[in-house]
Amino acid sequence: MFNIILFGPPGSGKGTQSEKLIAAYGLIHLSTGDLLRSEIAKQTSLGIEAKIIMDKGQLVPDAVVVGMISSALDANPQAGGFLFDGFPRTVAQSEALDTLLSLKNTEIGVVLALDVSEEELVKRLLNRGLTSGRSDDNTESVVRARITEYHAKTSVVARYYGQFNKVVHVKGEGSVAEIFTLLCSEIDKRLS
Ligand code: ADP
Repeated sequence: MFNIILFGPPGSGKGTQSEKLIAAYGLIHLSTGDLLRSEIAKQTSLGIEAKIIMDKGQLVPDAVVVGMISSALDANPQAGGFLFDGFPRTVAQSEALDTLLSLKNTEIGVVLALDVSEEELVKRLLNRGLTSGRSDDNTESVVRARITEYHAKTSVVARYYGQFNKVVHVKGEGSVAEIFTLLCSEIDKRLS
């Protein structure tokens, strides 16, 4: 089993590259953002509470996303590997993920970190807001709040996995195809 964390700030292209990576490597895609939006669409009590937090650009509680990931891991016992997108976002989530994976006798193979400048992120997110229907992409203040949350709570996740020499930085600016090629070459190095 080879498990990957695709890491980077909001708007760094994790969703786009995830789609291509899961197809190329036969991985199961676990995006906590997508799981939360599906709870919102179904109007579950978890979804209704999460939406209030997401619309402020803040992080939902660790226990909520860890619980969703734990269920998704259990639901896919035959998986050849998982691609985590938008998770883990805090050190507590990273530690919980490592524990969940070790209970399944597996671990994170690599953390691929997409580097994109802040002005490019804001531009991409506001642009996505024109078509995505995502209420957290519409307003510059919410977009900037998400980037602030990333710097305050999420960027430390790279330091956490850095202790285990698992982090590789990849330039997240360029064409989708160019970035995909860079990501694949890092994965292939570790698979061979
Ligand atoms: P983006 O990275 O483009 O901002 P996501 O779809 O990954 O978008 O997440 C959207 C929102 O969902 C986040 O701003 C946050 O409120 C919530 N969220 C998603 N994943 C997590 C997580 N692992 N921990 C806490 N909150 C999360």
